[in-house]
Amino acid sequence: MSQARIMDGTALARRIVEETAERAADLTARTGRAPCLATVLVGEDPASVTYVRMKRNRCRTAGIESRHVALPGATTTEQLVGTLRELSADPTVHGILLQHPMGAHIDERAAFEAIAPEKDVDGVTFASFATMSFGLPGFVSCTPGGIMRLLDAYDVDPAGKRAVVVGRSAILGKPAGMLLLARDATVTYCHSRTSDLSAAVREADIVVAAVGRPRLIRGQDIKPGAVVVDAGYNEGNVGDVDFDSAVERASLITPVPGGVGPMTIATLLEQTVTAAETAAQQG
Ligand code: NAP
Repeated sequence: MSQARIMDGTALARRIVEETAERAADLTARTGRAPCLATVLVGEDPASVTYVRMKRNRCRTAGIESRHVALPGATTTEQLVGTLRELSADPTVHGILLQHPMGAHIDERAAFEAIAPEKDVDGVTFASFATMSFGLPGFVSCTPGGIMRLLDAYDVDPAGKRAVVVGRSAILGKPAGMLLLARDATVTYCHSRTSDLSAAVREADIVVAAVGRPRLIRGQDIKPGAVVVDAGYNEGNVGDVDFDSAVERASLITPVPGGVGPMTIATLLEQTVTAAETAAQQG
């Protein structure tokens, strides 16, 4: 069998960001106000600082204003909730990104729920999860949303397919499975307690790897012709799928880096502009 086609997330993300920038420019011209994403960071975890900086830089290139709120590491849940409620009520802010993970002393769920659903452009609230699960309009978690855009761009219709999602985190695995289910895939979730991961993966027409374990999924377990989406990102730029063996069996596969990663920020920017457009329509 020939090698899989590569799903190029970098190129698709670039196109999405270009389209998003056009929409942002148009909205700014019409309303006199640029779309605005508020980024909230608690503490100074170096990886989180880098992620927020990257997101803010990408906002700038797309004509989206970013307003950064840096809170000290000792911020309490109540203080954080207060800040998020203020941003939720501020008409000049259209989207809110709360960088996580946060310190263990913070009630992450209470913080997420302080974000108004119409500004939840990172798709972290219960309300967003519900609309996502029902296939209704609303904001999706950015990485799973980016995965669905990749599948669509490569004409992969999940309907009727067996999809196996490895990982069930609230921001990635679980919503990825719900989005696939909403598009009529038959979805199986695997996780750390799954007794025979290989057997489950071998059944999959679509594999979504969202684990955080380098090269956990081997080519020998990929059904010939399957679509392989690797959301994992591990030290040394390595995914959760053993790319070299999987590329020999899959029909389509995402590389790491350059697959799912760039789609996450593109989805965040796109949803921020959508939030701003909706706010402008509602006056
Ligand atoms: P997470 O919260 O640590 O969740 C990992 C999931 O994998 C859990 O559901 C866990 O099961 C499951 N798991 C762990 N070991 C397993 C095993 N041996 N077999 C099967 N399942 C196993 O991680 P996450 O935040 O979802 O991130 C997952 C990966 O995606 C990481 O590499 C991360 O860097 C990457 N990621 C990438 C992006 C992007 O933009 N590209 C965004 C977010 C995350 P339990 O639930 O049973 O513990």
